[in-house]
Amino acid sequence: MFSALRPAPRYLVATFLTACLTACLSATSAFAAPTVLTSIKPLQLIADAVLSEQGSAEVLLAPGASPHQYSLRPSEMRQIQQADLLYWVGPELESFLPKVLAQRSQPNVALLHAQGMQLKHFDQAHADDDHAGHDHHADSLDPHFWLDPRNAKQIAKRMAEDFSRFDSEHAAHYAANAERFAQAVDAADRQLKQRLAKLKDQPYLVFHQAYDYFEAHQGLHNQGVFTFTPEVQPGARHLNELRERLRAVGNACIFSEPPLVPRTLHSLAKDLPVRFGQLDPLGQASASYVAMYLDLGNALADCLERL
Ligand SMILES: [Zn+2]
Repeated sequence: MFSALRPAPRYLVATFLTACLTACLSATSAFAAPTVLTSIKPLQLIADAVLSEQGSAEVLLAPGASPHQYSLRPSEMRQIQQADLLYWVGPELESFLPKVLAQRSQPNVALLHAQGMQLKHFDQAHADDDHAGHDHHADSLDPHFWLDPRNAKQIAKRMAEDFSRFDSEHAAHYAANAERFAQAVDAADRQLKQRLAKLKDQPYLVFHQAYDYFEAHQGLHNQGVFTFTPEVQPGARHLNELRERLRAVGNACIFSEPPLVPRTLHSLAKDLPVRFGQLDPLGQASASYVAMYLDLGNALADCLERL
């Protein structure tokens, strides 16, 4: 069905480009902020910080949607065709995107594979038979790299360079915004490091394996992961192991993710001295990257401090 629709937008784009190249390129487009589309909210928040008053980025995934498994609507297909710049994580996360991106002529940036990023692989120790066969498997690149603040700063720097190529008049503006963003991230990071330093030995479980970057950066270690990737229900053997571990550690926190606390998570904790908290790795309710980063660390601390 999709391939039947393909020639029309392509033709329109070509016609528009020909008209524009002769008429308007030199007049306007060299000095206009690019239209920016990102796959997930954290990348949108970083793009917004760099664009600032020059505009705002759009995001593909609605709140509550999981990037691990997603189907695009026709309106989203159009957004993808039209944006000047498209930022996504990489095929490790948005496996729904590569096929669609092949139809796009403008640049797209898979940031996980961009220069200067600090990357981690999923730890072999977390490999679990329950999850064998899933593409989010042990030993592959962990795509949740935006939760390392060093990567967030690198992403902002990269975006400032890209935006400047589209809009050279505001190059200094984009560079200054990226710099201001880096300073705000560093300040938030110092604040969290101070609060979390005292909580390093407190036991907790996380909902899915999204926090390795954040935990490594903050020196935290979880006692277990409920499910490797959100779409896969954990098996009985894995749940039994987690329950044994919870029983052994005593008071502990379990962090779910919005929107729901699955029933299995409650039964896992039944009759054990467990407190529940919530972590949002996609910053769905956050107004900025810095707020998302602070919310994550503070939600961890809020629960761990009460153990
Ligand atoms: Zn994830």
